Amino acid sequence: MSSLASTAVVLDGTAVARVVRQRVAEATAAARRDPPPGLRVLLVGDNPASLSYVGAKTRAALEAGIRAETVRLPAEIAPEALLSEVERANSDATIHGILIQLPLPPGHVQSRVLDAVDPGKDVDGFHPENVGLLHQGRPRFVPCTPAGILELLDAYEIPLSGRRAVVLGRSDIVGKPVAALLTARDATVTVCHSKTKDIASICREADVLIAAIGKPGFVTREFVRPGAAVVDVGINRLESLESAPAHLRRSERIRKALEEKGRILVGDVDYDDVSTVAGWLTPVPGGVGPLTVAMLLQNTAKAAGVPLQKK
Ligand code: NAP
Repeated sequence: MSSLASTAVVLDGTAVARVVRQRVAEATAAARRDPPPGLRVLLVGDNPASLSYVGAKTRAALEAGIRAETVRLPAEIAPEALLSEVERANSDATIHGILIQLPLPPGHVQSRVLDAVDPGKDVDGFHPENVGLLHQGRPRFVPCTPAGILELLDAYEIPLSGRRAVVLGRSDIVGKPVAALLTARDATVTVCHSKTKDIASICREADVLIAAIGKPGFVTREFVRPGAAVVDVGINRLESLESAPAHLRRSERIRKALEEKGRILVGDVDYDDVSTVAGWLTPVPGGVGPLTVAMLLQNTAKAAGVPLQKK
């Protein structure tokens, strides 16, 4: 752990998400849609992390006046039967938003299932039609985590136009769409991935650094330009000190949590170290995660035709 004092302003995703959720709840109540906005989550198998995420999403939806239901399907469901479930949701007029909880168990081709979702109900924004619209600069449904990242940066008035942004990770869910959104906001964007050479020095050029690679504590202070805004998307569960990379084992906070609870969630950023140099930094948990849920609600309200006020 660094002995330097923390300088970074904490980007409080929980607080910003609360504002978005309130905005959606008010708009939904005012619109008095009949039927009310409806979200159906298709959850295949019993991955514990997925169960917990789906629970959080459906509870938040209900609080925002969105009728949310989860259809639980066995991991061994035949691919054709899963596609029939998607079709059933597509043709149900009371369902405005459909979410396929990822990852799907082995045996299912993710792209085949996502492609089957009606693009007008694709509140996760993963259908190729919605991906295309996003990249053409005329978004319909923006994927929730990237949309949440922009919401958070905007809430703290972090400038983007003309700034250097570096995105670590190039997944379809986070890296690629957040790079498209930052480009659309006139940032100059570099995307790094597992084959990128000299990654720390590229990251050090960033005014805004987005880390989405799924590697605990990968980003240390050597990656960060003093004063940069750092957004940590990673969610990594550590269950023992041995499972943590060596530099994280030195963190008093992580050691204590592992000793007392036997587990801790950490991001892709070494928080204790980077907070001594960054200008802004998201915590994990309490950063991007709550905004992912909030943006799902916003997309579902939008899918149901609820007029949402501009921020
Ligand atoms: P993913 O699909 O596994 O993609 C990971 C990306 O990181 C890939 O592009 C990969 O490069 C790159 N990468 C892996 N190791 C790297 C390394 N050592 N150096 C540079 N790049 C490396 O992951 P994802 O779905 O985008 O998720 C990333 C993280 O965000 C995970 O921890 C996930 O749990 C979390 N997440 C959080 C939220 C939230 O709501 N907070 C939402 C979604 C995801 P290649 O392309 O070359 O393989």
